[in-house]
Amino acid sequence: MHLEAYESVVGSEEIAEIRALARHLRGLKVQHINSTRVGGGVAEILARLTPMMNELGIEAQWSVMTAKPAFFEVTKAIHNALHGATDLVTDSMFRLYSAEAMANRDLVDKEADLVVLHDPQPLPLIRTQRRGRRRTIWRCHIDLSLAQIGVWGLLRPMVERCDAAVFHLVDYAKELLIPQFIIPPAIDPLSDKNRDLSSEEIRKVLGRFSIDPSRPIVLQVSRFDFLKDPLGVIDAYKIAKKSVDCQLVLAGGSAADDPEGEKVLQLVLERAQGDQDIHVLNLSPDSHVEINALQRAASVVVQKSLREGFGLVVTEAMWKGKSVIGGAVGGIRNQIIQGVTGFLVNTVEGTAFRIKELVANPDLAQRFGEAGREYVRTNFLLTQYLKSWMVLILSVVQRQTRGVLELRGEKRR
Ligand code: UDP
Repeated sequence: MHLEAYESVVGSEEIAEIRALARHLRGLKVQHINSTRVGGGVAEILARLTPMMNELGIEAQWSVMTAKPAFFEVTKAIHNALHGATDLVTDSMFRLYSAEAMANRDLVDKEADLVVLHDPQPLPLIRTQRRGRRRTIWRCHIDLSLAQIGVWGLLRPMVERCDAAVFHLVDYAKELLIPQFIIPPAIDPLSDKNRDLSSEEIRKVLGRFSIDPSRPIVLQVSRFDFLKDPLGVIDAYKIAKKSVDCQLVLAGGSAADDPEGEKVLQLVLERAQGDQDIHVLNLSPDSHVEINALQRAASVVVQKSLREGFGLVVTEAMWKGKSVIGGAVGGIRNQIIQGVTGFLVNTVEGTAFRIKELVANPDLAQRFGEAGREYVRTNFLLTQYLKSWMVLILSVVQRQTRGVLELRGEKRR
């Protein structure tokens, strides 16, 4: 999708600003490294950010590390521990993590001016950093505010070897010896996941999954992950169902770097058993139009996470004019304005109460949805994100490569 196409969504001034900034970065080689090509918010963003950077003349590439399953078991434990869960990370697990990550050392592009390591999985690759002009940024997509001290203590020396760290929210920043930046994630309004759909397209998707379009739909979209609390959502729906007629759709899938998905899915299926109105959809990673249609068809969207880095699914739903009931955790708290764009909840009972309220009051739900869409337009769209990244890159790379910038940017203008 070309940048000009976004003018209709964000206005021409925003696009002009992006182009002006990009002139200073033309020819700069940027490499993003993460641990999965599909599934989850990181992959979702990189799939859009990388082509856009390229369109602007930045030589951006996205590389995905590989590792054996044991690595992903460990990184999931690290992920959970950083989110404040009680998962144990032993010394031997940490050694395995470091060694497996470092086995990807050849993935790092030696010609890159800037390498961006996303989340803990590729972080050990900072050890490939040599003196020279290459800069490295650690991009953290996790809420670190409740991180286990011991596990964070293992990662911190690696983080501090980077030139800067980027967090979603101020709350997640840590005491570090390197500069820290705050960039909340964003969605692409023109991607298949978020673009407008015709009612025919929406109807087709509902038909494919045997969902009744004439009755209220309560929806949660998320990987099958304990921290997304799909079991709590089922319990809340069951309570609400005693008062209001509705169907529950739990749409999810797995991510290649998340080994827990299958176990959670089985538990969800067990808990959903016997209720024809609960639709558990295990979707393939490319089900963007399907998710878009489900979000548009929903009467109310729920994201009852127990921990959440940011919660792009909340952004996606708000962009589609939906009121959202979200767990009062992580980035969800920065998206849902209580009583304005949705409701923040802490318990199963609270979730059930708000489901009842919004299903019974479509006008209220619509008002919240309209406010939510505008909130996303001004804060969480890809164009804004791109701009923030370019300012960040300028500031990090400029510190010692004024010459490179002049050569690569200024001279070519
Ligand atoms: N998603 C998807 N298929 C699924 C589940 C989720 O495409 O089965 C997408 C979802 O639409 C969103 C992203 O994956 O764009 C999830 O991002 P979020 O920040 O909500 O959670 P994460 O999975 O990164 O913890």
